[in-house]
Amino acid sequence: MSTPAMLDVFKTTGALLEGHFRLTSGRHSNTYFQCAKVLQYPEHLTAVCSEIARHFAGKNVETVISPAIGGIVVGTEVGRQLGVKTIFAERKDGVMTIRRGFSLEPDERVLVIEDVITTGGSVAEVIELIKHSGASLVGVGSVVDRSNGRVRLADDHFSVLSMEVINYTPEECPLCKDGVTIDAPGSRANKQS
Ligand code: ZN
Repeated sequence: MSTPAMLDVFKTTGALLEGHFRLTSGRHSNTYFQCAKVLQYPEHLTAVCSEIARHFAGKNVETVISPAIGGIVVGTEVGRQLGVKTIFAERKDGVMTIRRGFSLEPDERVLVIEDVITTGGSVAEVIELIKHSGASLVGVGSVVDRSNGRVRLADDHFSVLSMEVINYTPEECPLCKDGVTIDAPGSRANKQS
């Protein structure tokens, strides 16, 4: 799927809204993004994940691992399409850990999948778990890279969409200066649905 076609899917599902929004941080932005809104539809989940699976096909991935919670849906579908074992890591007392009887073996070829990468913190913690286990990192795949390519977590780092996060303090917000009505993301999303 082309980037414009992919952007269109994100817009029509309400995952990507354009306007004037107050983010949970209190900053203002001209876009609101909620990846889960596109992934709730099976045809979109399949299409988005096939972009990632195609990139890593032929790279001998043995296991897919995702940081909970956001990465699990994408990781599971990418793993299903690649036909490989899929597990997830989760925080216990603030520390990323592999639980539930999951394990990584030395030299196991592991692909890390996340839904949205902004600073890459959770993925970096999962990569540390892979290194500690002696397993081998094949690469990192995500649906959206909100760092617009600035965050590089692996030699082979693939994202379906790259986009810049543009936000402002309320004082410096150009949309406020232009008198554009502001929405809280939830209320805007509800109006559209
Ligand atoms: Zn504003």
